[in-house]
Amino acid sequence: MTDTTTSLAAIEAYLDETRAARLASYKAFLRIPSVSALPAHAPDCRAAAEWLAAELTTAGLEHVEVSETGGHPVVYADWLHADGAPTVIVYGHYDVQPVDPLDLWTSPPFEPVVVGDRMLARGAADDKGQIHLHLMAAAAELAVRGGFPVNLKYIFEGEEESSSVHLERWLLANQDRLRADVAIISDSGFFEGNRPAITIGLRGMMYAQVDVVGTAVDLHSGSFGGAVQNPVNALAQIIAALKGADGRIRVPGFYDDVVSLTDGERAEIARLPFDEAQYQADLGVSALVGEAGFTTLERRGARPTLDVNGIWGGFQGEGGKTIIPAHAHAKISCRLVTAQDPVAIFDAFRTYVQEIAPPGVTVTVQDIGGGHPSLTPTDHPATQAVARAIEATFGQAPLYIRDGGSIPVAASFESILGLPVVLMGFTPPDDHAHAPNESMDLGNYETAIRTVIRAWDELAASGL
Ligand SMILES: [Zn+2]
Repeated sequence: MTDTTTSLAAIEAYLDETRAARLASYKAFLRIPSVSALPAHAPDCRAAAEWLAAELTTAGLEHVEVSETGGHPVVYADWLHADGAPTVIVYGHYDVQPVDPLDLWTSPPFEPVVVGDRMLARGAADDKGQIHLHLMAAAAELAVRGGFPVNLKYIFEGEEESSSVHLERWLLANQDRLRADVAIISDSGFFEGNRPAITIGLRGMMYAQVDVVGTAVDLHSGSFGGAVQNPVNALAQIIAALKGADGRIRVPGFYDDVVSLTDGERAEIARLPFDEAQYQADLGVSALVGEAGFTTLERRGARPTLDVNGIWGGFQGEGGKTIIPAHAHAKISCRLVTAQDPVAIFDAFRTYVQEIAPPGVTVTVQDIGGGHPSLTPTDHPATQAVARAIEATFGQAPLYIRDGGSIPVAASFESILGLPVVLMGFTPPDDHAHAPNESMDLGNYETAIRTVIRAWDELAASGL
């Protein structure tokens, strides 16, 4: 047996012995309600950061720091003793989504429980579970091997679920100590059927709020109806004009920078083992809809979208109240693809909304955050090293997929730090991330700890 095989066997024995403690630690992390979007949970976000920092220190990582950003802190840690070996940045986020609607959870979201082979809690998958498996991999490797074959720099942020607002500035301010050869982001998941996958494309995001104001106060619809513009009607009119019946977004210039899928890419997507009828049945919808001329998988990962995320205004109580509401509002977001620019898309969106706004109301459009799309080369040596680690541990070569979601930091690592990014994520496709009853497959979690350890070996040998 080679040294690596021997030490992998020793790590396996260590992981076997420490399984109960590992699950207890995982649960302790999940119990901290680190909801970044809600100001009331700011102390909990800090508590999660401090918990992580303490665990990273105990595991034997160095230069551990709860680093201020102006918002929720970034947790940084490193281990830099692999002279001449590549340096790897590892990214995850310790903040989570809000938990409402609470009544749809089968158990309280911050009281983690193991149900069958799943860990059930908010953040179990997205993304505390993935941070935790990195932490456990590092602890095991340091305990058994006393070091790593690569240099590691961990960045765990606390604002991913609220657009990573302070992270870019933090990356810029810390550019020197963040020099590396590759960034590994663990905030993605497997393909349908829980097939191992590496996400090669991530969508970006434009997020806007549209405010429509008519009068200073609500009006009597009998006395004033027929004389003034109704802001809720006006907002409905604006929203209806944003997309055509063919699913195409009507904002002028919206598609100008979209890099079209090549025939080869379309063939690759078509080859993915995707059962469209099953997907529709699982969702419980009567039809799958979207932009004409593209398949469901293309529309879900490789084409831009526009969706109303929320809408409010006027009377919403029981019974009737005959008013012309004073104002109406909507949150509207677009998922963007390479090479759309979120700032340019926001400008085009605002201009178009102002143009189509009916008379008699004041319409304002605010930018409430965005992020660039990103795309990773499949043939990059780092991608291939991670693919080998996945195949060695999960027994299956990964599929290469485009995910419809957005991880703003992926584009920042590319543009600010000049790093190739590999998305090494392990959550099952039915993890209910952002929804009630979020869960992590514990088989994925356990195997992923082994994958991470193998990935460092593979990256060290990759000649990166
Ligand atoms: Zn996430």
